[in-house]
Amino acid sequence: MDQNDPLKAYRSKFHIPKDNNGNELVYLCGNSLGLQPKATKDYIDQELDDWANLGVEGHTEAKNPWLPYHEFLTENMAKVVGAKPIEVVTMNTLTANLHFMMVSFYKPTPKRYKIVIEADAFPSDKYAVESQLRHHGFDDNEGLILWKPRKNEELYHYEDLEAILEQQGDEIALIMVGNTNYYTGQFFDMKRITNLGHKHGCIVGFDCAHGAGNVQLNLHDSGADFAVWCSYKYLNSGPGSLAGAFVHERHAHDKTLNRFTGWWSHNKQTRFNMRHEFDVLPGAEGWQLSNPPILSLAAIRASLDIFGEVGMEALTKKSRKLTGYFEYLLKQLGEDTIRIITPENPEERGCQLSIQVKNADKALFDKLTASGVIADWREPDVIRCAPVPLYNSYEDVYKMVERLKEILND
Ligand SMILES: *Cc1c(COP(=O)(O)O)cnc(C)c1O
Repeated sequence: MDQNDPLKAYRSKFHIPKDNNGNELVYLCGNSLGLQPKATKDYIDQELDDWANLGVEGHTEAKNPWLPYHEFLTENMAKVVGAKPIEVVTMNTLTANLHFMMVSFYKPTPKRYKIVIEADAFPSDKYAVESQLRHHGFDDNEGLILWKPRKNEELYHYEDLEAILEQQGDEIALIMVGNTNYYTGQFFDMKRITNLGHKHGCIVGFDCAHGAGNVQLNLHDSGADFAVWCSYKYLNSGPGSLAGAFVHERHAHDKTLNRFTGWWSHNKQTRFNMRHEFDVLPGAEGWQLSNPPILSLAAIRASLDIFGEVGMEALTKKSRKLTGYFEYLLKQLGEDTIRIITPENPEERGCQLSIQVKNADKALFDKLTASGVIADWREPDVIRCAPVPLYNSYEDVYKMVERLKEILND
């Protein structure tokens, strides 16, 4: 399979971490921090050199001028998330973007103020929406509605979300879910959730941290009002790198939307006249505040150029095979040993499999790490593994399962 893999050349475009003896680790943690493209250094060096040689002139005279630098990322970023260029921007960090989007799109009234999130939302998202409720003077216990999996289940049923909307739809201002759940890997049908929310008069936003670069998002067609994602997971742009934001085209020219602004949200033509009345940029760019860190944008650009070359279609195609093979191998271990909590249907997941190991504790995971497999442990008994189609091989997942088997048989 590795020999016949049309994307096999891409593994060598990444730095694969090694153990102390120089052997490549089995790195299945791209859901947490994607690996570094070898080209990243050159992209950053270019900007360091231009800064060294040009100083402030680099804003306009650098090989890739810094003033419009974020625009060099827009086309590829839009493709990755299935959006129109006017709908995306790279700025800030993920949780910050979530707040900025809520400033504009969470507009509670005394009657309609509640927010729906998944019960097992990523903690930062939960803290962010709770603080928005409090910021607007609401009780965060009363205002937060959890969409929960059923008893003894991990996955979410749309019918349960529909029931929440039937019962409390006119009190709900915002539905904000992780489009690919970080824990189970369940990939939600964003169009279905958006249509449901809109039918009940709610705003619908998604956190695509585990979706961007992993699954085909089709953000524009989903109709979602807004979305946010980070670039350091599947988008391989380095720890803490800048995040993405999506604002649907239908809001692109709405100057009445309240928002927090800065000089980078202002009309580019008159931005440097400094004394003009505020004139907001159309589209997602109109949510920027500051001039962005170019070194981080350079790293994102290095990665996005790879995504632009490969395309999400080819990536998804390999991803399904790779994760399907991984699933097949894991199932050989037997139902008494492991249970995969990620959906079986490839349409409802990305590359990640969350593996519940019966009677396991962290000691098992530590042994797995010591054997050279880098994955991710979630208490009480789940190992999350993400075979990433850009740089992981079929051999990687084979090795992972072999080592897990050895440890379990010990
Ligand atoms: C990774 C992740 C975050 C992290 O937030 P930062 O602001 O980038 O630190 C937040 N939410 C979700 C769903 C994530 O997966």
